[in-house]
Amino acid sequence: MSADTKSANRHMEFLLTLRRRGIGDQAVLRAMDEIPRDRFVALEHTESAYADQALPIACGQTISQPYVVAYMTEQLRLRPHHRVLEIGTGSGYQAAVLSRLAREVVSVERYRTLAEHARERLRAVGCGNVEVVMGDGMLGAPGKAPFDRIIVTAAAETTPQALIDQLADDGILLLPLGPHNGPQQIVKLTKSAAGLARENLIAVRFVPLLAGQAREL
Ligand code: SAH
Repeated sequence: MSADTKSANRHMEFLLTLRRRGIGDQAVLRAMDEIPRDRFVALEHTESAYADQALPIACGQTISQPYVVAYMTEQLRLRPHHRVLEIGTGSGYQAAVLSRLAREVVSVERYRTLAEHARERLRAVGCGNVEVVMGDGMLGAPGKAPFDRIIVTAAAETTPQALIDQLADDGILLLPLGPHNGPQQIVKLTKSAAGLARENLIAVRFVPLLAGQAREL
C-alpha cells in the first residue's frame, strides 16, 4: 500500500470512529476532517496522529483525544457569529477545530513555549481567526469579554468565577471538573436570566488547570 493510500485510510477510519462513537453534527465532523491533526503533534507521533488517543506534547502536557475534542465541540453548539474563549491552548488543535465553526477564537495558555508553537502551527494551517494569549486562563481574558462560548481543556477543581463573569447571556461554558488525577466529568453550564443551569456529561481525564503563568518555558 502506498504511503498516500495508507494515510487516506487512516483519515477515513478517524472519521468513522468519531461517527461510531456518536458524533453526529455534520459541521463538527467536517471541521475534524479538515484540520490536519498530524500538524499539531510532534514528528515522532505523526504515525499515531489519527488514532483516537491523547498524545504527549511539550511541557509535560497532552493534545486531547480526538473523540473528546469532537464531543466538546459538538456540545458547544457553535454558530458562525460566535466569539469563543478557550483555556489551555496546548498544541492549538482544539482551537483550530473551533476556528472553523466560530467567528473568532481567543485561546489562553500558561506556557510560553506552547503558546508560541501553537501560534506558528495555527498560522501554517491557515486559522487566521485564532488569537493565542499567554497568561493565566483562570482569569479568562477580561479585556476581550464577553464570550458566547467558553471551553476549558484542563481539569478544574472548581469553576473559576472569572469565566462565569465573562460568559455572555445565553452563553455556554464547558469544562472538565474534578480532582487532579482523579475522576473528572465534563460539565456544561448555560447562563440565562434565571441563573446557571448545570448538566453533567461524560467522564474524562485531563491534565490539571493550574493557577498562574508557568515560571519557566
Ligand atoms: N486544547 C489543547 C489541550 C491542552 S492540555 C489541545 O488541543 O492540544 C491543557 C493545557 O492547559 C496545557 O497546555 C496547560 O499548560 C494548559 N493550562 C493549564 N492551566 C492553565 C491556566 N491556568 N491557564 C492557561 N492554560 C492552562
